[in-house]
Amino acid sequence: VISIRDLHKSFGSNEVLRGIDLDVVRGEVVCIIGPSGSGKSTLLRCVNLLEVPSGGTVTVDGTEITDPDCEIDDARRTMGMVFQQFNLFTNLDVLGNLTIAPRRVLRRNRAHAEEIARANLARVGLSEKESSFPGQLSGGQQQRVAIARALTMEPTVMLFDEPTSALDPELVGDVLDVMRSLAEEGMTMLVVTHEIQFAREVADRVLFIDGGVIVEQGRPEAVITDPQQERTRNFLARVL
Ligand code: ATP
Ligand code: MG
Repeated sequence: VISIRDLHKSFGSNEVLRGIDLDVVRGEVVCIIGPSGSGKSTLLRCVNLLEVPSGGTVTVDGTEITDPDCEIDDARRTMGMVFQQFNLFTNLDVLGNLTIAPRRVLRRNRAHAEEIARANLARVGLSEKESSFPGQLSGGQQQRVAIARALTMEPTVMLFDEPTSALDPELVGDVLDVMRSLAEEGMTMLVVTHEIQFAREVADRVLFIDGGVIVEQGRPEAVITDPQQERTRNFLARVL
């Protein structure tokens, strides 16, 4: 579903991505780990063109989104993105947050948008919160709403950038459980995470990125339990 070829990204003279090649197949869960500043967020942001790559191509669901003629709004619609900050609309209640994009972008009528919104709220276990405002929810609940909101656009791929790192430790588990069940439903997922245990249990493949290149990748039990590269071993020794 995602095909990345020789992806480069520089900010001025700072070359952050130095030639990334990555294919993600339908239903695959790929977790990206690596030190701070290694380019993980930049890679995800290049996948949905929040950052414009300096070189290389990104193809999503058969559309080369790095082609200047590509309708990026159409392509972006196929990708749901969840960030560290929840980015909910604080002036809208939960149902409002979940229906605004389907109504405005997909031109769904209110009843249809609300039906899909409620189905997705149920998926994240927050049906009873549809009339709450973001400020009335815990961080973990807000993040689950953000996931439900991304799902209302019926994406073919979900991109997660450290979705649990802004949360109090006791709230992390609920969000990871939602992600785990999405993975079990067969959602294609690209997940930047510091949750090594989650990566070990849920990922089909783990990528270790350092210095803007993929240093090592493979099955989680290989990369996490038996890393072949010195740099991967050093990183894991620090975070485990
Ligand atoms: P972390 O684990 O801390 O989130 P990361 O692996 O996600 O780190 P990136 O956010 O991708 O790292 O950043 C990689 C490098 O790119 C950093 O040196 C950062 O300063 C730089 N960078 C990222 N975004 C920008 C930007 N918009 N303008 C200039 N430099 C940037
Ligand atoms: Mg980051």
